Amino acid sequence: MKLICIGRNYTAHIEELENERPKDPVIFMKPDSAILPKEQDFYIPEFTQSLHYEVEVLVKIHKVGKHIAPAFAHKYYDEISLGIDFTARDVQDELKKKGLPWEKAKAFDGSAVIGKWVSKSNYGSIDHLTFSLQKNQEVVQQASTELMLWKVDELIAYVSSFFTLKKGDIIFTGTPAGVGTVASGDYLEGFIECEPFFDLKIK
Ligand code: ZN
Repeated sequence: MKLICIGRNYTAHIEELENERPKDPVIFMKPDSAILPKEQDFYIPEFTQSLHYEVEVLVKIHKVGKHIAPAFAHKYYDEISLGIDFTARDVQDELKKKGLPWEKAKAFDGSAVIGKWVSKSNYGSIDHLTFSLQKNQEVVQQASTELMLWKVDELIAYVSSFFTLKKGDIIFTGTPAGVGTVASGDYLEGFIECEPFFDLKIK
């Protein structure tokens, strides 16, 4: 299985990192070894001095598809979750400057936090979900999927024009504004609407 991640999908986050607004979705991937095992603490890697959280809505693909039309994309996923795309921001800034790929900054072990999976039928529309991240019981990121530049179905269509989507693949749909650093001792909790999806200690 693969983790397909979308970058720069919320305007306010593009502005906070002073990135250009993309013409097409930015895509990168994480290997399955990036998944933080359930109930495990997150250890800040030694190669970064600036480890950022990015809370994101996740979608799990449940049947194989390629060149999926946006109108049919909803048939390719039935479960959603919430997760974190941990990013070594200092490493990423260095790679960006040199025009190099981002994997060292984003695809390292433990960089993909995946919460519990819930049927999408529990929600009215995936395009109107509010979600948030709390750090030490304070809200640090809060947004709605309404604010996405490319909605989930458009992302699936776009991604599947390059990569065959397979059962079990997970799409990280991009982070809203409010990204920031974590330090040893921090405690993170993610919510969709008011329901907790994951919690995690930083070591
Ligand atoms: Zn991200």
